[in-house]
Amino acid sequence: MDSLALIDLHIHTSASDGTFSPQEIVSMAKGKGLKAVSITDHDTVDGNEEAIKAGIEIGLEVVPGVEISVEWEGRPVHILGYYIDVKNLILQSTLKNLIAFREERNPQIIKLLNSLGLNISYEEVKAIAGDGTAIGRPHFAQALVEKGYVKNGDAAFKKYLKRGGPAYVEKKRLTPHEGIQIIKNASGIPVLAHPYNVDGIKNKDLELFILQFKEMGIEGIEVYYPLHNSQQTLKLKNFAEKYGLYITGGTDFHGEQKPDIKLGSGFGALKIPYELIIKMKEKQEAKPR
Ligand code: AMP
Ligand code: ZN
Ligand code: FE
Ligand code: FE
Repeated sequence: MDSLALIDLHIHTSASDGTFSPQEIVSMAKGKGLKAVSITDHDTVDGNEEAIKAGIEIGLEVVPGVEISVEWEGRPVHILGYYIDVKNLILQSTLKNLIAFREERNPQIIKLLNSLGLNISYEEVKAIAGDGTAIGRPHFAQALVEKGYVKNGDAAFKKYLKRGGPAYVEKKRLTPHEGIQIIKNASGIPVLAHPYNVDGIKNKDLELFILQFKEMGIEGIEVYYPLHNSQQTLKLKNFAEKYGLYITGGTDFHGEQKPDIKLGSGFGALKIPYELIIKMKEKQEAKPR
């Protein structure tokens, strides 16, 4: 094996708002020479089975995963769950509720877009999502692009869909405690995703923010992430080491949905070492199932 095997532990598929199927992701990752990936779709584990099967066939390690959005001090915070038992019943029923919250919210987004004079139906958005489980704002963005209302997805978010935008509708979220516990209850490892993406979190707030989430049960921090600069990466790595948290990393690859981000390398230079998952794996293997 080469000396530096690389991984990508944050990937979205067509089961949520990514544009490639789980199987396509696995063969692309293999083609890029990655040693392991995790499928971390929003609010669903539906892509995992296909990815794990494809991984076995092609010889790529696939870590079962999910990404859940929780509500913290009025803001969304993303929690990743790794090595989850995707068949866990409480996990599955909770995710089902989160999909139901999306189904409550999505028609309200349509209403707002219609009231802004944009002729768009939920059927059109659902057609874009295909047989994906978690329908979300990126699908609305794509519909707006396809109908010629905006030039690209970014513009759709800026003009309409971003948090606080004229077509933004909050969806019900789990509390941090609930989000973390359903992952733990499914034998998984809860990890704080891209901490710098949380609204209002600056360098000076970061340590307290991480500590609060550690108190609530988080076991790792997503340190390697395309939007983290080298100083931020180092800062997060130091906090992870200081507080005994796992270090993870991923690109948040969404395919054409986020065209600047490449699988495995983010904007091109990201390198996420395989050794990160060795510790997590050892812990998982020691857990009773
Ligand atoms: P939802 O879960 O339906 O609220 O959609 C959230 C997803 O929309 C995120 O995971 C991103 O993929 C995408 N997204 C959120 N904000 C933006 C933005 N400002 N520009 C582009 N994509 C965004
Ligand atoms: Zn997404
Ligand atoms: Fe996220
Ligand atoms: Fe993500």
